[in-house]
Amino acid sequence: MTQDDKLPLLEQELAALEPEARLLEPDARQRAEWMAQLQRETDAFIGGLEGGKAYRKAGPMGGVLESLRQIPGPVPLDEVLAELREGMLNRGLNPASGGHLAYIPGGGIFAGAMGDFLAAVYNQYAGVYYGGPGAVKIENELLRWLCRMMAYPAGSLGNLTSGGSVANLIALVTAREAHGLQAADLSQSCIYLTAQVHHCVHKAIRIAGLSSVRIRTIPTDSHFRMDPEALQTQVAQDRATGFHPFLAVASAGTTDTGSIDPMDAIADCCGSNGMWFHVDAAYGGFFALSRLSYPNGKMVRDAYRGISRSDSVAIDPHKGLFLPYGLGAVLIRDVASQYKAHYYRAAYMQDAFAAQEELSPADLSPEMTKHFRGLRLWLPLRLYGLAPFVANLDEKILLCRYFYHRVQAMGFVTGPYPDTSICIFRWAPPGQDADAATQALLDRVVDDGRVFLSSTTLDGQFWIRLAVLSFRTHLSTIKTCLDVLQNALTCSKI
Ligand SMILES: *Cc1c(COP(=O)(O)O)cnc(C)c1O
Repeated sequence: MTQDDKLPLLEQELAALEPEARLLEPDARQRAEWMAQLQRETDAFIGGLEGGKAYRKAGPMGGVLESLRQIPGPVPLDEVLAELREGMLNRGLNPASGGHLAYIPGGGIFAGAMGDFLAAVYNQYAGVYYGGPGAVKIENELLRWLCRMMAYPAGSLGNLTSGGSVANLIALVTAREAHGLQAADLSQSCIYLTAQVHHCVHKAIRIAGLSSVRIRTIPTDSHFRMDPEALQTQVAQDRATGFHPFLAVASAGTTDTGSIDPMDAIADCCGSNGMWFHVDAAYGGFFALSRLSYPNGKMVRDAYRGISRSDSVAIDPHKGLFLPYGLGAVLIRDVASQYKAHYYRAAYMQDAFAAQEELSPADLSPEMTKHFRGLRLWLPLRLYGLAPFVANLDEKILLCRYFYHRVQAMGFVTGPYPDTSICIFRWAPPGQDADAATQALLDRVVDDGRVFLSSTTLDGQFWIRLAVLSFRTHLSTIKTCLDVLQNALTCSKI
């Protein structure tokens, strides 16, 4: 066959494939039908949250599991949705419920979902400015807004990440490169943190190849905040030994108790010792917007002021701005060091190098092609402004304080007065095994399922945690939680 003879054959083959390939582009009628079904589904889901369970123990999956295993379709959308309801939504934690008061509660505001939906339909390329200047501009402006919130200087930037873990990782890799740490330096270098630091920081240390660095666990005070004098002493001792104090990691809202480390004192120590100062504000960062004060008259936001002196911050809009899972941010004061640690060059990207009005997210993170995740934050902020977000944040702090006072009145022992929106408490009547009694109580709460609480161990003691951060948690939810606890106490006869 000659070259010319092949072309008609190719055309025939293409003509045979095209109708099936085009099925992936539904027509307007099909789209309308699906959208209507999705609307019914989301209405029913959101409508069922109030009064529904926050946690359901996973029973046997039976046939439902089979349907979740199956890939080959086609199956009509209403059947698929029913499979998801039965196989996925009916078991385990319901993070969309306001009764989710465990771990760090999630969000999922509808306007965020709309942003995700549009981002997926538009499918703008938010990795490289040359390809998606508008999308990159939106993401970088969001980062500048977050930097201003932390009172970082103009010119700081960062990256929108999938969450706090990747944000912390990017910060640690940037710190490593900014300090020019080579393999031979590691065993002489020191990282300072507390036992309250989130486990993802240890994970980031390992992934960043820093496992052989000396980790100094600095003691905490009675509020589980880093003791800055102990930090100062340890750093001085390490310097005297000839070690290289390299990095301090503080928490602005620890996961266990919501405690905020003393930012200014840690910044002083880092500044005078040439150390990188990183703040993990993944959970608590947005309380910097709070208008509330503490009983001692100090403003909540004052506890965050010293963050302006840090080198990097991790902050999670999918926690403190109530967005669906999948949006964190890292903020970096000296973006040049972030760029040096993450940029790339490749021949097939040569067209992109010319256009550099904005730094590209692909040069500031391990990702290249990425979800245009900024739209889920940008759209709600445009639709609502900031006010309802700040109202939610203040409401969460006050709900936590309300709970703190009410459980004390019920006879529970509480931890320190909450810095943010997490309260720890335990049942410790004299003469009883308090750990066992508190565990038994938590089991009953989880069995009830109307609210979901989790536990932690602090200084060897078992504590229940209440973490308020869902935009669907209001006073009635906390009252339900107190009822559930009261019932559990009565039933347990403890
Ligand atoms: C949630 C959390 C993280 C981890 O963030 P992800 O978004 O889950 O990856 C890190 N630090 C703190 C303090 C957190 O609360």
